[in-house]
Amino acid sequence: MKLLEERIRRDGKIREGGRVLKVDSFLNHQMDIGLYNEMGKEFFRLFGADGVTKLLTIEASGIGIACVAGQYFNVPVIFAKKSKTTNIDGSVYTAQVESFTHGTSYDIMVERAFLQPGDRVLLIDDFLANGAALRGLAAIVKEAGATLVGAGICIEKAFQPGGDTLRKEGVRVESLARIKAMGEAGIEFC
Ligand code: 5GP
Repeated sequence: MKLLEERIRRDGKIREGGRVLKVDSFLNHQMDIGLYNEMGKEFFRLFGADGVTKLLTIEASGIGIACVAGQYFNVPVIFAKKSKTTNIDGSVYTAQVESFTHGTSYDIMVERAFLQPGDRVLLIDDFLANGAALRGLAAIVKEAGATLVGAGICIEKAFQPGGDTLRKEGVRVESLARIKAMGEAGIEFC
């Protein structure tokens, strides 16, 4: 998506020797709602014909974009909560996720009442790196007996393995901007 690529080039900041991209000024801290709206529209163009009944994301950075996309899909938006407590009473689905940004792992959970076997679920997230966040969400969809339609990602760092591994496993991953490489010379898109 040209608009997102141009914005990343203009305002993105490369950190940790080209491993991390900061997009705090328009995506994950201050949010450019005009841009969010265009991304939501694009996710709907890509997945709108697939009978999606729920959007599922993970707190916190995915929530904004999932809500804007949800207005196009006109379906409920669920965000998996990051939780310190595990599934004690069986009323929640849980999965473990290794945090890319913090290097630790944490549990995520979704109330069982919000995902049913008949649901067709589209995952939404801001970034795709090693794929741990998507894998955790996909595990919850599977546990619920629902159908995984695919994943809509704003920025995929294609030099990290998550996207390709998930695609090889048969998950339909659509990323609006795919970064091939980034470093002192700038950012190269796929
Ligand atoms: P993964 O689980 O695919 O390794 O990483 C995805 C999650 O880590 C995203 O939900 C995102 O919050 C965070 N993340 C991964 N890479 C980056 C990055 O380069 N910049 C920012 N801001 N977040 C990232």
